[in-house]
Amino acid sequence: MRMRRSVIVMCALVGVLVTIALGQWVGGAPLLPQDRADAAVKVLVGRLDLERYKATIKGLTQFGDRLQGTDRNKAAVDWIEAQLLSYGCTPERLRYDFVPPPAAQPAAPLPRQIASGEVINGVGGSRLRGVTSPSSGRGPAGTDLNAQADSVLRALNAQPAPPPGPREEVYCTKIGTMRPDEMYIVGAHMDGRGLGEAADDDGSGTALVMELARIFNSADVQTARSIRFVLWNNEEGGSRGARAYAEQRALLQGKEDPPGSGKYPEPKWLGMIQHDTMLWDHGMPRADGTVNPEQRAEADVNIEFQSTAKLADPAMKLAFLFRDANEKYATDYPAAVGSHMTNTDSIPFMDLVPSISLRENERGMQLGAGWNPHYHQPTDRYSSYTDKDFRLGMNAAQTTLGAVAQLAGATVK
Ligand SMILES: [Zn+2]
Repeated sequence: MRMRRSVIVMCALVGVLVTIALGQWVGGAPLLPQDRADAAVKVLVGRLDLERYKATIKGLTQFGDRLQGTDRNKAAVDWIEAQLLSYGCTPERLRYDFVPPPAAQPAAPLPRQIASGEVINGVGGSRLRGVTSPSSGRGPAGTDLNAQADSVLRALNAQPAPPPGPREEVYCTKIGTMRPDEMYIVGAHMDGRGLGEAADDDGSGTALVMELARIFNSADVQTARSIRFVLWNNEEGGSRGARAYAEQRALLQGKEDPPGSGKYPEPKWLGMIQHDTMLWDHGMPRADGTVNPEQRAEADVNIEFQSTAKLADPAMKLAFLFRDANEKYATDYPAAVGSHMTNTDSIPFMDLVPSISLRENERGMQLGAGWNPHYHQPTDRYSSYTDKDFRLGMNAAQTTLGAVAQLAGATVK
């Protein structure tokens, strides 16, 4: 027994030495699989480009606020589809019947200053603190067309949402070479509101997902597992597009169709990663109601999971894996993990698959207290943001690209 174990140890040792020697013989320093994987991720993250990311956001803003059901929303779906096709990622459409959720009770307005010790709960299990502002989503949210000062945008956004009915959303898939039957879902919502350009909410997340689709579908990139890039519709007002996807496709997971074809129309879900409002982190409003005009130096990417989800534990693990990827691959801004993911398209998935969201701020405590003055407002326009803002979205892109490239086993030829 002791003899056999020492033989195994000996063989393993010889194996390692041969691998190291071979590595040195081939290319100088030993190139072990982990190093090779890291090198591939670095190459892919290096293909992200701030100007390209901005150009994709700008492209989305030509359709105004992309309000669900309108012609401008449909035109945006068509445009996204054409872009995905041009990246070499074959687009598909999910068709569903939009049924709005029952109208929620309007939340009570917030005090401008939450007193010491006063407990005011926000959405998702959060607790609000400090100074709040009316742009918290509790006040009026960009429904008066005359509030849009720009006449071009007034004309572009003039059509109101039609009655509930059939709607569509688009996605495309990088098919895995080893496990085409398993995938990560990388999503953002392409619809918006507020009669502006929905540049931050959620042109910034949509452009991030599109840029990742472009990079992962380059001809020289392979992934062991599949990755699906989804641009949800009908997020505003209750994530109905994401909910429709989960309802229609959960039971199709992992099924080969047709049998023996090697094709998996709905690979098994391994993780769902949502991106929603990626640009603005200027801090808490000031006591006099003004806001910091600059991105705050301490800006961060907020990665959230939901502690009440059935899969909270693996979602938390996924969130910290993303935080580690941020430390490895993001150039400027750090990431923080929180436990109150809410009000976005990862919610319909969170009891079915480990799910997280990435944002500019925590949705409950920060956005929910009015930290972003452009939230759902006519001023959510491309021109309202500077490179310091766009760079936060870029850093979120670096974070997700780095994490998903590792998880899906990306290699570059
Ligand atoms: Zn949003």
